[in-house]
Amino acid sequence: MFNIPISYDQPVFRPPSEGRSFLIQVTLGCSNNLCTYCDMYRSKKYQVRELKTILSEIDQSSEYFQGMGINPKKIFLCDGDALGAPMNILIPVLEKINEKFPKIDRIGIYATAQNILEKTDEELSLLSSLKLNMAYLGMESGSDKVLHMIVKGNTQADMINASLKVKRNGFKLSTIAMLGLGGKKHSADHIQETIKVISETSPEYFSFLTTMALPNTPYKRMVDRKMIEMLTTKELFFEMREIIKGINPKLNEIVFRANHISNQYPIGGVLPQDSGEIVQALTSWMEQIPEGEYPPMPESM
Ligand code: SF4
Repeated sequence: MFNIPISYDQPVFRPPSEGRSFLIQVTLGCSNNLCTYCDMYRSKKYQVRELKTILSEIDQSSEYFQGMGINPKKIFLCDGDALGAPMNILIPVLEKINEKFPKIDRIGIYATAQNILEKTDEELSLLSSLKLNMAYLGMESGSDKVLHMIVKGNTQADMINASLKVKRNGFKLSTIAMLGLGGKKHSADHIQETIKVISETSPEYFSFLTTMALPNTPYKRMVDRKMIEMLTTKELFFEMREIIKGINPKLNEIVFRANHISNQYPIGGVLPQDSGEIVQALTSWMEQIPEGEYPPMPESM
């Protein structure tokens, strides 16, 4: 992230692939803020920021970048689900970005299935015509049982409909799933139903995070009370391997990566053509992992 003259409302998060993007906060916090494992925005009350403040930040930062001789190629709109902002905020923000940063390649955004379903096809299409054309969907699981357990606020059907809707309106889709999220009890369903959603929706990008029971989250309390049994490292690899093995993209190839800090070994490729190689690598790693070993806990990372 560049050192620009904007005072960000912390904490600020963005996907790993937006590491060099210029970040603009359109909303603060997350409109759901209920997912049991997530502690990202618990300190923030969800709100849409004032339009004039956002526009003024874009003006100031464009002057700053010009002075530095820097042309950002990518912009990312924060916070948790900035696509939830109304059109009368998003459109002037995007128009201002296009005016001040005409050389920008693309604008990305976190989106929930709910955000996407609440916008019409025409609205999404208008947004993508203004270069907002990369949506990151934290699906987490294709399993309704797991989605219900973590209070995601959307079902498998919502995830499928939202994914197809955002794609047909000019966005590229990056979908994120969480290994181990359903614990041992729902692992088989998590695998099966995640395969189904990813195959049917064929996001252009697909990635995994590894579930961690973060302190002070309802998820951690459920783990402590033995309501959720966490997966061992080997079982996490098994989930990843089975999901990759099962994905059969119906619409287009998928760029897959598991390179987040929460993943112990980075791996990636293009599905389906690299599936065999990825499955082989995961199988060989699994053979080397001792039974009963767990990934590092958050406190020790
Ligand atoms: S929708 Fe995303 S940011 Fe919001 S609570 Fe759930 S995981 Fe956290």
